[in-house]
Amino acid sequence: MSTRSCTYCNAESVYHRRYSGEYLCSRCFTRSVQRKVARTISRYSMIKHGDRVAVAVSGGKDSLTLLHILSKSAKRHGNELVAITIDEGITGYRDESLRIAREFASMLGIEHITIPYKELFGNTLEEVLKARDEKALRMSSCSICGTFRRRAMDTAAKVADANVLATAHNLDDMLQTFIINISAGDVERIAWMYPEPVEYADGLRKIKPLLEVYEHEIAFYALINDIPFQSEQCPYMNEGIRSSIREFLNTLEQRHAGIKYNMLNSILKVSKVLRDNMEFKRNRCSICSRECSNDDGICSSCMLVIRLDDGSK
Ligand code: SF4
Ligand code: ZN
Repeated sequence: MSTRSCTYCNAESVYHRRYSGEYLCSRCFTRSVQRKVARTISRYSMIKHGDRVAVAVSGGKDSLTLLHILSKSAKRHGNELVAITIDEGITGYRDESLRIAREFASMLGIEHITIPYKELFGNTLEEVLKARDEKALRMSSCSICGTFRRRAMDTAAKVADANVLATAHNLDDMLQTFIINISAGDVERIAWMYPEPVEYADGLRKIKPLLEVYEHEIAFYALINDIPFQSEQCPYMNEGIRSSIREFLNTLEQRHAGIKYNMLNSILKVSKVLRDNMEFKRNRCSICSRECSNDDGICSSCMLVIRLDDGSK
């Protein structure tokens, strides 16, 4: 902690933003993050007057911070918020975060809905992972969980009667996803990363209002605003390539303050060019009839169920 005074109001600073050189007191830091999120929302037309916004809250720092920030401006902008939590069924981990999410939403006076994997897919994540191991499928826990989670969130938003789905992906998540997509040679997914929401046939607009905020600034925001969050990590967290990329990027930022921010700006430019030239495939899944972009006419979620069932690679 620094003893220098705030660059803006002379109160004692509690945060040094290395990439900009600013020293910030807790009030000016909180405002600066809220302003940044408001700018992101407006720049990419993420939320419009009268929208009903489902906020995906896991109980972690990012999603509860997102709920906190959106709750500050929702009334002013004529928006309704509803918090949704997906219960993957991870023993000992999800129970605590569910309680935190429910209590925090209720403290902010926001409706909260929980949707369990078991109800949607017939199995908990743990049961699904057991099936994966028995069939020796080569898929990480997070890629299975992520595929089902995306489907579960769409369903939850529908149950909540929302037309916008907000997730708490931050700047660090964006960079990691970009490098994962580059490593996998998946150019189409980079086009999808551009933050301007795509309007889906079912009318759901998916947005990431925290995409320009560093992960460690979100953690600090949560800390100084007394946001209670689950600090324990999911037991499957460190399996994937994402953790290695995360460490690599943190080392880079440590040595070259602001490099993550520059990388994000490049990603936004690259993804914009790709998005502008992208041909949107609007197919329907032949199993669940949801909109999907897969050429074989089966969405990723239904394909995963088939693979887990018959063990096909
Ligand atoms: Fe799912 Fe992976 Fe997140 Fe755990 S860390 S909840 S397995 S995506
Ligand atoms: Zn499907």
